Parts: sequence; C-alpha cells; structure tokens
Amino acid sequence: MSSTFTYQFDTPTYKGTSTVPTGLFINGKFVDPVEKGTIEVINPVNGKVITSVAAGTAADIEIAAQAAKKAYKERWGLKVPGAQRGRMLNKLADLLEANADEFAALEALDVGKAFNMARRSDVPGTVAVLRYYAGWADKIQGKTIETNENKMAYTRHEPIGVVGAIIPWNFPLSMLSWKIGPALAAGNTVILKPSELTPLTALRLCPLLVEAGFPDGVINIVNGYGSTAGQALSENNIVDKVAFTGSTLTGRKIMETAAKSNLKKVSLELGGKSPSVIFDDVDLEQTVKWVAHGIFMNHGQACTAGSRIFVQAGIYDEFLKRFTAHALSLKVGDPFARDTYQGPQVSQTQFERIMGYIKSGKEDGATVHVGGERHGDQGYFIQPTIFTECKPTMKIVQEEIFGPVAAIIKFTTEEEAVEQANDTLFGLACSVFTRDIDRAIRVAHSIEAGTAWINCHNVPEVNVPFGGFKQSGIGRELGEYALEHYTNVKAVHINIGHRL
Ligand code: NAP
Ligand code: MG
Repeated sequence: MSSTFTYQFDTPTYKGTSTVPTGLFINGKFVDPVEKGTIEVINPVNGKVITSVAAGTAADIEIAAQAAKKAYKERWGLKVPGAQRGRMLNKLADLLEANADEFAALEALDVGKAFNMARRSDVPGTVAVLRYYAGWADKIQGKTIETNENKMAYTRHEPIGVVGAIIPWNFPLSMLSWKIGPALAAGNTVILKPSELTPLTALRLCPLLVEAGFPDGVINIVNGYGSTAGQALSENNIVDKVAFTGSTLTGRKIMETAAKSNLKKVSLELGGKSPSVIFDDVDLEQTVKWVAHGIFMNHGQACTAGSRIFVQAGIYDEFLKRFTAHALSLKVGDPFARDTYQGPQVSQTQFERIMGYIKSGKEDGATVHVGGERHGDQGYFIQPTIFTECKPTMKIVQEEIFGPVAAIIKFTTEEEAVEQANDTLFGLACSVFTRDIDRAIRVAHSIEAGTAWINCHNVPEVNVPFGGFKQSGIGRELGEYALEHYTNVKAVHINIGHRL
C-alpha cells in the first residue's frame, strides 16, 4: 500500500507539520504505480532530495482513464445536478482555505517561491478560482433557437467526458485549479498530471477531494514524467480532451499526439515573450514598480513575464536608473525568510537554461547592466538581471527565458514600439504605460496578444479570460470563456407536427 511523507517546518514564517501521501490517487484511493517507479522531489534551495513520490506510466494512466470513464458514466456528469457539483467545489475551496498556511509552505518548499507570496497570492488565488467555478456549475446552459413555427431547436452544453490535465511547475496549485475548476463545474471527470518537479501540493489536496465529497474516480491525480505519463495521457483513447499549460514545444507534441490518436480536443496555454511598452508621460514611480512586478514576480517564471521592456527615449535614462535601483533592492534568498522577494529557480535544468541565456546575451553583444550571475553558492538562485543594448535578433529578445532576466530596448515613436512589440512568435500578453488614454487604448489594441494590461502587468483576474494569440496557445482559461473548452454543444431539433 502506498505511503506518506511527513515534513516538519520550523521557519521564521511557518511552523507546522505536513503529511503528504506519495502514491497515485486513482479512483478515490492511493495506489502504487504498476511499474513501481519513483520521482525524487528536490529542494531548489540546496539541491537536496526532500522525498520521493510515485511515478505513474502509461499503465497507470490507462487504469485512471477507465476509472474516470466509469465515474463519468455512473456517478458524475449530468447525473449530479450542477448545484451539487458546485457545493463540492465550494467545500474544497473551504478546506483549502482552512489549511492555507500548510499549502503555502509546501508550495514554497517544492517550488522555491517565497512563502509570503504563496500565502498571499497562490493559495487565495486557487481558492478564488474554485469558488468562481463553483458558482458556474448550475449556470451552464444552452439557448432556445427560433427556426419556424413547426419546429423548435435548443442547445445543450454537455460535459465532454474524461479530461486530461497536464500542468507546469511555476504555479502548481493555481494551475491545478484553472483546470479542475471549469472541468468539474461542467461535469467532466479529470486525470491530472502535475509536473514531475512539483507534485507535493496536488498530492496533499487528494484527501481534501475525498472530504469535499467528490465521488471516486471523478478526480484522479497521477504523478509521472512528462515523456511517459504526460505522453500517455495525450495518447490515451479514453481521454476526450487534454488541457495543457507549459512550453510551446510540449504543446506542439500534445497536439500532434492528439491528432494521431482519437482526435481529442486540445486547449493549450503556452509560452510568451511579453512586451511592456513605456511612454515618456508616465508616472515613473508606479511604472517602475509594475514593470518590475511584470518581469521579476515568481523569479521570472511566469508565462506572462514582461521580459521585453520598451522605453521611450525621453525617459530612458531616468527609467533605467530607477528600475536598476528597484531590481537591486529585491531581496533574494530563503523562501521562508520574512523579507524574501525571490527564491531559487525551480530546478538545476532551469537554472542552467537561464544562465545559458545570460551567456548568449553577453556573447551577442548586449550589456549586463546589473546582475547576470548566480546568487550565493548553493541551490538555484540567480540575481535579478537587466540587459541593455539589446537588438531584436538576439536570442534574449526572441526566446522565452523564464527567469529573472529583463531586456531593455529604447524606442522613439509609437509605430516603432508597436512594430517591435509584435516582432515575436508569441502573443500571450503585453502592457502599455502612458497617461494618454487614446494612445493607451490604441497600443493595447495594436499589440497581438490575448491579454493587454494598461498601466499594470501580471494581474490576471478569475473572471477575465486568459490565453494566447499566435504560438502562445489555443483556447482561453478563466472566466466564462473557459467553459467553452470543457463542454460539447449539442443542437436538438424538435418537429412540432410538420409532416413530410
Ligand atoms: P514542459 O515540458 O512544457 O512541462 C509542462 C508539463 O508538461 C509538465 O507537467 C511536464 O511534465 C509535461 N510534459 C513534458 N513532456 C510532455 C509530453 N511529451 N507529453 C505530455 N506532457 C509532457 O516545460 P518544462 O520543460 O518544465 O520547462 C521548459 C520551458 O517551458 C520553460 O523554460 C518555460 O519557457 C516554459 N514553461 C512555460 C510555462 C507556462 O506557464 N506557460 C510553464 C512551465 C514552463 P514533467 O514536468 O514531468 O516533464
Ligand atoms: Mg521541487
């Protein structure tokens, strides 16, 4: 029988004990994986192993898919009224809220993010998403459509069936809620694969799923490697839809696999290289803070990170001076220290990837204005880094770095800024900073991105759609728009006495 792992937190910001099951959660129970594999969970602060969790493979995905299909047919879907599904989601939100400190601590331990940030943002954000979709569960409805007097037609928004959810490591708990919230509200069953790097909060949530009343098999959490369990989820013919957040490369693979298997539906939330465009009439103090939040929040590990910062010539020097001072003031260190803003990057691989980009920026002729080195001598910490003298063709300007690395580019005219902002394969988000309302709206509308923030950055809202243009994805998450991707529309035609 599968086991648990207990961790004693004795830190300045959190003291307490957490017990986390380490098996695969399938059909309402923890089980051992068929092939008995394990994944080591690493503490990014020091590179040491925290624990090991079960590694599922295709065999476990198949067992989970059968359980999810059976649950869908026998005890979920439209068999359970929306109000009841909503009550369970609300109960889950309540249980998570009641254990918020513990979940924030586990997230900080596993991902390396500051406990204070996880506690103020990740956990309450997750609770809010669950509550938001709890509210939708009994409001998912079709339309009655007039045709002619001998006929009526209506639409039903039916659940799709079994949804596979594959989530990344940067916001493990909130990404889980962005997937299971709308999926369960709409009446689907779910198999969720957390990232191999950050499985702990999803596992800790499983006992709460049971307590919230979700029937066995409605939500299954199967840890495993992307290339095995993740791949199997997108190959499996029982799975009717895959919802994915992560890299564009993996998103492409998932689409390909879906096309080659049962043509399952796919929604993708992928990478970005989001521009922040700053005009010279801004409130500099506020703008510097927002732009820094845009790029440095979560150690730069955000798909919407404002990693290309376009600054108008008139304020370039002053902006750079203040932005530099702000970057230098950000406290890098122990995620559990009270004043930490930035902890380590999530893994050795990500650390090396980011340092590789910093090296390429230097080789390509950009200037490291500040940062550019590792922080400390253990773990995966990187100094907040600002590059200047950046050219549009450089890798640091074109590719997603996913670290605390900003590329600053000077511009003169609005047209030039828009053209450069759009010179990317991505289209996830952008921000525009100006006091000129006409210009703010014009530029927000001209940049090819799914989200445009005006005089702010990195502030998604639970009821506002989120997703990408271009190679940043397919479909929208959050808000009412997400429900589209978790329902099938059926048109029903009724003959009222028309005789052939
Ligand atoms: P990734 O490979 O896209 O990982 C995201 C999720 O996909 C993880 O659960 C991963 O599992 C899984 N996965 C990997 N290969 C798969 C496959 N063939 N089929 C199905 N699922 C698969 O991302 P990463 O390698 O961790 O990070 C690389 C880069 O991706 C980052 O530097 C960043 O640029 C980007 N990224 C973007 C986001 C975002 O929010 N849009 C999030 C994370 C990363 P495993 O973790 O077990 O491999
Ligand atoms: Mg970890």
